[in-house]
Amino acid sequence: MAGVKGNCYLCGKEFGKIAAKNHIIKEHSDPSGQEECRLLLIEGAEDKNYWLYVDIPTSASLSSLDRFLRKIWLECCGHMSAFRMKNRKVGKSDKLEDFNVGDVLLHIYDFGSTTETLITVVGTVYRRPQRGVRLLARNIPMTYTCCKCGAAAKYIDAANYDSENPFYCENCAESDNALDFALPITNSPRMGICAYCGEFDTFTFVPKDKE
Ligand SMILES: [Zn+2]
Ligand SMILES: [Zn+2]
Ligand SMILES: [Zn+2]
Repeated sequence: MAGVKGNCYLCGKEFGKIAAKNHIIKEHSDPSGQEECRLLLIEGAEDKNYWLYVDIPTSASLSSLDRFLRKIWLECCGHMSAFRMKNRKVGKSDKLEDFNVGDVLLHIYDFGSTTETLITVVGTVYRRPQRGVRLLARNIPMTYTCCKCGAAAKYIDAANYDSENPFYCENCAESDNALDFALPITNSPRMGICAYCGEFDTFTFVPKDKE
């Protein structure tokens, strides 16, 4: 199955996951930029159809990456989080300059109902200095159909989020208390888990002609 496509947030064009990386490096790196960054591919560890590309200054620490991940697809009620790496101890105060192309980190959010995020360092890029993590590309939100009537779904039954089709449209969700625990459909690997209700809406893609 072909992966879910995404949008470049700098020019609006649509790409597959690999093509997006090549596009960002070819079209959007700024060799005269003074700020050295690591280019990161960020994916849901369980469902890689959730993906992002970001650049982050080499002087920034993993804690700023942690804050970004919470904002865009994790935060529900302030759970603990940590980074892990094979064969190496990592801490949130580690700087991005300590990581090289090819390094893979795992981010763990919530040690109860865990959501794991895979972070791969895919390049070194330069940009004009700006604050912290910059979102460069993101998968287009997936759509789901209601398990009762087949209409476009709006909610997930959080009590059964890992069942075959836990999705409901607005009508069916309201009729005869179909769901034990309804949460909104979100563009996040944490959809349906704990009390996750979605991102701060600053990360939603807005096509250039609709700005
Ligand atoms: Zn672009
Ligand atoms: Zn929670
Ligand atoms: Zn329905």
